[in-house]
Amino acid sequence: MTHILHRQIHASLPVARGGRGVELFDAAGKAYVDASGGAAVSCLGHGHPDVVDALKKQAETLAYAHTSFFTNEPAEQLADRLIAGAPEGISHAYFVSGGSEANEAALKMARQYFVEKGEPQRHRIIARRQSYHGNTLGTLATGGNEWRREPFRPLLIETHHIDPCYAYRYQEAGESEEAYGLRAAQALEDRINELGPDTVMAFVAEPVVGATAGAVPAVSGYFKRIREICDRYGVLLILDEVMCGMGRTGTMHACEQDGIAPDMMTIAKGLGGGYQPIGAVLLGQHIFDAFAEGSGLFQHGHTYICHPMACAAALAVQDVIERDGLLANVREMGGYLRERLEARFGNHAHVGDIRGRGLFLGLELVADRSGKEPFDPARRVHAAVKKEAMQRGLMVYPAGGTIDGTRGDHILLAPPFIIDRVVADTIVERLGEAMDVATA
Ligand code: PMP
Repeated sequence: MTHILHRQIHASLPVARGGRGVELFDAAGKAYVDASGGAAVSCLGHGHPDVVDALKKQAETLAYAHTSFFTNEPAEQLADRLIAGAPEGISHAYFVSGGSEANEAALKMARQYFVEKGEPQRHRIIARRQSYHGNTLGTLATGGNEWRREPFRPLLIETHHIDPCYAYRYQEAGESEEAYGLRAAQALEDRINELGPDTVMAFVAEPVVGATAGAVPAVSGYFKRIREICDRYGVLLILDEVMCGMGRTGTMHACEQDGIAPDMMTIAKGLGGGYQPIGAVLLGQHIFDAFAEGSGLFQHGHTYICHPMACAAALAVQDVIERDGLLANVREMGGYLRERLEARFGNHAHVGDIRGRGLFLGLELVADRSGKEPFDPARRVHAAVKKEAMQRGLMVYPAGGTIDGTRGDHILLAPPFIIDRVVADTIVERLGEAMDVATA
């Protein structure tokens, strides 16, 4: 009997005992190809010797030093490195232990920014439906996934949601991509005006929507218009790149492909590649200046911010990605994997859409392709695909409730950046069998 409270109380999970490269092994010795990097985390795969060495050295040198007494070398070096490669205007990093903490910190930073600037009436957050920003109360309130929010509704701060840019579901017949992008972005301007522009603090969005919609990128032009609207009304643009960032889409930051820079960006999963829990807020010079010229203090903090072990792991992961030119492999293998998925599922009766960027790919599952009709939620088709895939030695990341909190199923693929064609072929072959069985 387990004494751990697992997410699914009655699930009997295999015990993960080891990992090497793209595979994890359970206690019985069965191997699983990690085609989702867990939850889009394991960008370098498992057991990378360079990262293990860096962790050993850091543990021997300095495991922990509280930030009210000291800064530390791995954190300083990681900040230098991230800022050197960050979008224009980003000047500082704030290190936490994961994605929810990063988004929670970004929201509080946005609020304090306006307090420091003498605009205390700005407090409203606008985000999007079908988004996920974390499971702490502030980030849960910000996310737009109804299923996740529902039991906690009385505890959530008031937030405002517009539709995401989600062409498969919301682009109208005969509407051009450009016209759709502008229409989707217009929803933000309309909402800002409804709420009163001088009360709105921030707009929060994932450049490529991950867990709640299955690797949905915006159409081109959407984020440029969003940036213009935020600038026009003095609203901060916070991009959540916790899942889609740090190389996953083939560029270091997903927003590079949308041609914009945010006021703040949050990163996590691929930053440390799962070797340590770590996340960060990357913030613009104007945000830093408001604090520096104002109270001189960001009124926030956790025991493990700037954790030396976490920062050392992230530095090692990022060093390997750069040294081995892995972003080029993400682009090349992303193209190959997508091609193979299209060949296998392009005419599949129950795959409505294949989408994503780089090695961040999603399949939307439907009962009926022509009408885009979702499956009966009671079937939990996404969970059935995961189960069938696990039986065949394949990890994929499923989700349900993608359309309105109850209906809609998708499968997310986010394999390590080190995959080759043989691994990509194995992923498609095992997923194909699992999908055929689960959707039949
Ligand atoms: N934002 C996004 C876009 C995410 O995908 C996630 C995790 N799935 C989070 C925030 C929350 O991150 P964490 O689970 O590390 O708290």
